[in-house]
Amino acid sequence: MNRAEMLDRLDKEKDWDIIIIGGGATGLGAAVDASSRGYKTLLVERFDFAKGTSSRATKLVHGGVRYLAQGNIKLVMEALRERGLLLKNAPHLTRKQPFILPSYSWRGKWFYGIGLKIYDLMSGRLSIGKTKLLSAKTTAKYLPAVTTNHLSGGIMYYDGQFDDARLALNLAQTAAEHGAVVLNYMEVFDLAREKDKVSGVFAEDTLSGKEFELKAKAVINATGVFTDDILQMDDERQHHIVSPSQGIHFVVDKKFFPGEHALMIPKTDDGRVLFAVPWHNKIIIGTTDTPIKEPLFEPTPLDEEIAFIFRNINRYLTTDITRADIKTVFAGLRPLVKAPGQKNTALMPRDHTIIVSKSNLITITGGKWTTYRKMAKDAVDNAAFISKVAGKPCCTESLPIHGFTENPDDNEALHFYGSDAAEIKKIMIANPELSEKLHPDFDFTKAMVVWAVRNEMAMTVEDVLARRIRILFLDAKVAIQIAPIVAAIMAKEMNNDDNWIQEQTTKFTALAEKYLLPGDFPLSK
Ligand SMILES: Cc1cc2nc3c(=O)[nH]c(=O)nc-3n(C[C@H](O)[C@H](O)[C@H](O)COP(=O)(O)OP(=O)(O)OC[C@H]3O[C@@H](n4cnc5c(N)ncnc54)[C@H](O)[C@@H]3O)c2cc1C
Repeated sequence: MNRAEMLDRLDKEKDWDIIIIGGGATGLGAAVDASSRGYKTLLVERFDFAKGTSSRATKLVHGGVRYLAQGNIKLVMEALRERGLLLKNAPHLTRKQPFILPSYSWRGKWFYGIGLKIYDLMSGRLSIGKTKLLSAKTTAKYLPAVTTNHLSGGIMYYDGQFDDARLALNLAQTAAEHGAVVLNYMEVFDLAREKDKVSGVFAEDTLSGKEFELKAKAVINATGVFTDDILQMDDERQHHIVSPSQGIHFVVDKKFFPGEHALMIPKTDDGRVLFAVPWHNKIIIGTTDTPIKEPLFEPTPLDEEIAFIFRNINRYLTTDITRADIKTVFAGLRPLVKAPGQKNTALMPRDHTIIVSKSNLITITGGKWTTYRKMAKDAVDNAAFISKVAGKPCCTESLPIHGFTENPDDNEALHFYGSDAAEIKKIMIANPELSEKLHPDFDFTKAMVVWAVRNEMAMTVEDVLARRIRILFLDAKVAIQIAPIVAAIMAKEMNNDDNWIQEQTTKFTALAEKYLLPGDFPLSK
């Protein structure tokens, strides 16, 4: 996948069947769906693929235990089915994750035990493991960091886990392999019209400043928390439909949860669930649900969210997690669809919504990463109808995602590249210097940076350190330390000069500092 080649095609082809605005889970899923049905497909993303919400998830491929408690059976059933399909179609990026819910009362143990048993049964033949009741001794063995005072036992259940930004990237590659043009750093600044109908988009290549008028028979708006901006380009009287809700996560060392099991806290202060999940040899703890007025493309954690996570996680641990233990803190914005009369974002529906405007603009928003494939199918079904172009039926239920490998070995340093791992090894054999690690504490190598530039459309140091290899989301200080090395490798590949290295390093450092824990706040238990 190469940006210069994609731009070449954009210069030559101005007419598309379907244009998709937004390169997050929803838009990229739609690009895979549309291109694999044979539609001439273009996707444009304002920043980098998954720069928005789609790189900032809790990394769970899940039905959503919480939505079951809320009685949203339809959403849970749909998500459990999608969980099963994703684990099959992208085994290199997903895995089965055992979770343990520790219980401090017998009533709680049975209540949650029955609920989680139902959760497993709802996944039917796509079940990924049976829910079990555990004794206090076994619970303590699996979660050695959790306090055993009054522990009555635990419940073990299974959900999926994945690498969100890498899945987004592999979706872009899958779409490209089916003939789509997918472009990062291409911002839509207006919609084109013919006789009151949307007939395409006006977009700017934000790296070169070049503008394009691109025609399409159908346009899909998949811009997440920025959905309303595009809807207002279509009709400035359009009322807002999205209510952004922020969630933050801490990342800490694996020593806090040394085993393979994730922790699920069933009820926090505000009645939500909190997870501590192993990911790339670290632990992600989150999340929160805070209504936000204006969406930002680089959201920042609020002091009260940080205090909330400390308070709720430390209640369960024998040794407190302190500020000094936080390697990274990151925030993301859920594109929740407004529900009449509902102000509490935690209670707003997580289902997805499709709106077809009078102008034929198709808007898809809400939902979750786990259900991206079904969302994409629904959006493309509408686009197929509006475009009046005949295409094949949707085939993504069994479509392997780029990198697909049977039974990947999670202990292999390159496992999350799937079938691309062999190509990265070739780069290291051709130039052994590139097999050097970028930092002694991580298995990420210089060859991965070269690969990201050559094949994954990485244009900036941030693209590499945030979304191609996930160091910014694992350890922000390490990310800052290695930024100049990454910039130098990229500059050599891209023929950029020392000024570029300097500029990229400075820009990335300023961004990464926002992923370090800010200010002071009370750390009460
Ligand atoms: C804290 C948190 C935790 C979550 N955890 C999970 C989880 O564990 N599992 C799960 O299944 N789901 C989870 N989700 C939900 C999931 O992450 C989102 O539903 C999903 O990522 C939304 O994807 P999207 O494509 O709709 O939006 P986005 O990823 O935000 O993509 C929209 C894209 O549109 C682009 N864009 C905007 N305007 C323009 C324009 N004018 N021109 C071109 N491009 C434009 C943006 O730059 C952006 O990249 C979580 C969400 C949050 C916030």
